[in-house]
Amino acid sequence: MKTVTDYDFSGKKAIVRVDFNVPLDKNLVITDDTRIRAAVPTIKTILEKGGSVILMSHLGRPKSGPEDKFSLKCIVAKVSEHLGVDVKFANDCIGPVAEEAAGALKAGEVLLLNNLRFYKEETAGDKGFAEQLSKLADCYVNDAFGTAHRAHASTTIIAQFFPNDKMFGLLLANELESIDKAIKSGKGPLTAIMGGSKVSSKIQIITQMLDKVDNLIIGGGMGYTFSKAKGGKIGNSIVEDDFLETALNILKEAKEKGVNVYLPVDSVVADDFSNDANTKIATAGQIPDGWEGLDCGPESREIFGKVIESSGTVLWNGPVGVFELESFGAGTKAIANSVVEATKNGAFTLIGGGDSVAAINKYGLANEVSYISTGGGALMELLEGKVLPGVDAILS
Ligand code: AMP
Repeated sequence: MKTVTDYDFSGKKAIVRVDFNVPLDKNLVITDDTRIRAAVPTIKTILEKGGSVILMSHLGRPKSGPEDKFSLKCIVAKVSEHLGVDVKFANDCIGPVAEEAAGALKAGEVLLLNNLRFYKEETAGDKGFAEQLSKLADCYVNDAFGTAHRAHASTTIIAQFFPNDKMFGLLLANELESIDKAIKSGKGPLTAIMGGSKVSSKIQIITQMLDKVDNLIIGGGMGYTFSKAKGGKIGNSIVEDDFLETALNILKEAKEKGVNVYLPVDSVVADDFSNDANTKIATAGQIPDGWEGLDCGPESREIFGKVIESSGTVLWNGPVGVFELESFGAGTKAIANSVVEATKNGAFTLIGGGDSVAAINKYGLANEVSYISTGGGALMELLEGKVLPGVDAILS
C-alpha cells in the first residue's frame, strides 16, 4: 500500500483530500476538531519531506453554490494552530483564484481550498472538475476514509490524473490496516458483536461475518427478530416480520460454518419506551404482551462478557440496547467494559459504526480500546465486503 511515507515530495505540490467536515456551532466555531487533528500526521509528513500541501474537503451539505455558513474559511485558524504553519486560504477550489494561490505555493507552505461541494460536479464525480483540481498539484493523496465509499471527483475520479503519483494518507492507510487486522489477519478467536435496531440494515455484514468469525454476538433490537423466528414470544419488542426467514437462515448457516451464535438469554423489558417506564427482567422468548425488550439482561451480559474477554480479536458494531436512555444502557455499558477488558488481555479490538462509537465515548472508554474507526458508512461497506471506490482508485 503506497503511502506518503514512500514518496519523495521535495519540490512537489501535493493535493490532499482530507475530511474537514467538522461540527460547527451557530457562530461557526468548531465544536470538535478530531478530524483536523487526525489529518495532521499526513500533512506534516509531506511538509517535512520538502513538499507543499493543498488541502481540499467538503463541509456540510450546501444546496447550490457557495454559502457563507459552509465556507471552510472558519477553520483556517484551527488548522494553522495544529500544524504550526500559517495556512493560506483560496476562496474557491478551482478556477483562477485556486490556480493563482496554488501556483504561488512554496515548499513548506499549506493552502486550504474552499468547500468542494459548492460545485455539484464534486458529488457527481465529474471528470472535468476532477481534472481542474488535479492541475493544481503534482501528486494526489487521499486521507479521507469517511468519504472513501463515494465515487466523488475529489475522492476517486481525480486519481486517474496521477497514474504514478497517487497514494494513501496515514489516516486512511491506518484505517484500512486496522480493519484488515480485525477481519482478516487478526489472532483468534474472532468475535463480532452486532447490535442496533434492525436486522435489515446489518444483514449483509452478518452474512459476510459468518465466513470470518468464530463467535457472533447478536444484541439490540434485531435480537427480537431472531427470537420471534425461533418461536419465542417477544411482546411489543421491535421486530421485522419480513426478516424472520432470513434470521433462521443466518442461524442455519452459522451452524453449518461452525460459528457460535450468542443471542440474549434474557432482556430488560419495559411497559413504555421511556426512562421512567416500569421495568423487569424477562427470559428470552417469554416477554409478556404489553412489554418490550429494550436492553439485554444480566445473564446475557455475563455470557457475552466471557466470550468477549476470551477473544483474540473483537469487532463491535451497534449498541445492544437503547443506550441513549439511562434505564436501558447497562447492556451496552457492560459490552464496552468487556471490550476494554479484552484489550487489556491483549486482544485487538475495533469499534465502528456511529452508535457504538457514540456509546464508547459516552462511557469515557475511547482511549482504552485498540482502534475506533472514523468512517461510519465507509466502514459498513468494507465490512459488507464491498470495494471502496476511493481505495480502489489508488490501488488500481
Ligand atoms: P443502528 O443504527 O441500526 O445501529 O441502531 C442503533 C439504534 O438501535 C440505537 O439508537 C439504539 O437505541 C437502538 N436499539 C438498540 N436496541 C434496541 C431495542 N431493543 N429496541 C429498540 N431500539 C433499539
